[in-house]
Amino acid sequence: MEQKFREDKIFVGGEWQKGRGDSLTSSFAAEGSVNATLSGASTEDVEQAIGRAQDAQPAWAALKPHERATVLYRISQGISENVERIAWVQTRDTSKALSETRALANSAAATFRYFAAVLETSDELMTVPRGDYSTLSVHEPLGIVAAITPWNSPIASDAQKVAPALAAGNSVILKPASWSPLVGLELAQIAHDAGLPAGLLSVLPGSGREVGNRLVEHSAISKVSFTGGTSTGRKLAHLAADKLMPISLELGGKSPTIVFDDCDVDLAIAGILFGIFSSSGQSCIAGSRLFVQRKIYDEFVARLVKATNKLVVGHPFDPTTQVSSLVHLDHRDCVEAYVELAKQEGGTILTGGTRPSDPSLQNGAFYLPTIIAGLDNSARTVREEIFGPVLVVMPFENEDEVIALGNDNEYGLACGIWSRDAVRCRRVARAITAGTVWVNTYKQFSISTPFGGDGASGIGREKGREGLRAYQRQKSIYEDLSGQPHPWARWPAES
Ligand code: NAP
Repeated sequence: MEQKFREDKIFVGGEWQKGRGDSLTSSFAAEGSVNATLSGASTEDVEQAIGRAQDAQPAWAALKPHERATVLYRISQGISENVERIAWVQTRDTSKALSETRALANSAAATFRYFAAVLETSDELMTVPRGDYSTLSVHEPLGIVAAITPWNSPIASDAQKVAPALAAGNSVILKPASWSPLVGLELAQIAHDAGLPAGLLSVLPGSGREVGNRLVEHSAISKVSFTGGTSTGRKLAHLAADKLMPISLELGGKSPTIVFDDCDVDLAIAGILFGIFSSSGQSCIAGSRLFVQRKIYDEFVARLVKATNKLVVGHPFDPTTQVSSLVHLDHRDCVEAYVELAKQEGGTILTGGTRPSDPSLQNGAFYLPTIIAGLDNSARTVREEIFGPVLVVMPFENEDEVIALGNDNEYGLACGIWSRDAVRCRRVARAITAGTVWVNTYKQFSISTPFGGDGASGIGREKGREGLRAYQRQKSIYEDLSGQPHPWARWPAES
């Protein structure tokens, strides 16, 4: 079926209206064409969205948890019914392979369903009293949450913030990335159709520096949930500190994958390919630093290169495609610049290192899966996030050395370990600084398992039952049971 982009409107406080800010261009980088030009949001639109959010939030917060959950279930259902539409829009917006965007849309539906279930099943706590009183610990919404998301997996990262924030009784203003302005607007329509009261969700595609920044600074915003690059996250953390406002930061990564000489080689190769080259490496958790134990290094790397050369680089709508275009021609320039840097740093390109020669891909932002050897852990190409299909591979001798190498990086997002020795796997998993460790697998995800980074990879965790609490404040209530005046007051006096 022929699909169309929605008209040039953004979703402010329950209404579709033309944005009053600078225009944004959604491009289909796989073909070097333009999808749509959109009038982005302005700071005036931010003010309007905040006003509507303030009006709508108290009644939403006053609903019983199971009543809010009913709306979240309907949003989940709406996403499920629109998976093909969302996947199409996201593939056009980001050039990700359709198979991946379908999976992301399904995961967004699961996220809403999960947080509806968490909401219905979360209890408040009555703590053990230490006097003649009872003590309750209850959770209340924060108010208005600003969710700021990147371009690489928009529907999944949007849902990961919007679902728990709404479940917790907040209103939400979502600011998607300028390179992927369209997907969040699909979510707005679905939430509206599902009966989410007007004002509880606004979607404001617009400039990060203007719209995003205004949201973070605004006194009416009670929390920011940010996913994006580390340098942006640092700036926002400073702004949040000035307001003493909670902020959660899901940031970049340069995750180590460790291959011990006793691993199942075929399993490891399949996992490593998926870990770095799916999504064309545009994944925060990409396993972009590969350490292979010296004894098997030459043979393993030769097989890995052979397997990499078999990956199908192609158009995102082609079901056989494994590696699609990068999100934007400008982003491919950045990836290319890193590969040039790697050569200057003394690296050897084992495969890739260039654009594909296929004439049908010439207009797109394609880049071949690339493996680089001959660098050590101090090279910039090894230390910095490239966010593209580029893997650096290095040998190591023993467990202690590889733990030190793995941890010798400012990021701490993820890690992969490949070995048949389960005890060693557990030991290394505990010794590595990372929010998530995969053992004999990679890039598996579950909404019920907390996710987040350490160090330069961020602050806080999303997902899991506790993901709801990240959007609430905790209150303790003491209720007297004695009926007696406090003895300290010596009142009422006896005479
Ligand atoms: P980015 O440049 O930091 O942008 C992320 C979001 O922040 C965008 O919506 C952007 O808007 C906005 N923004 C930029 N400057 C801002 C400012 N001064 N104030 C408020 N908002 C601002 O990141 P990206 O290039 O979109 O995404 C790639 C990065 O995200 C990578 O580093 C990747 O590792 C990270 N990421 C992390 C996770 C995780 O869970 N840890 C998941 C996915 C991606 P504009 O688009 O308008 O600039």
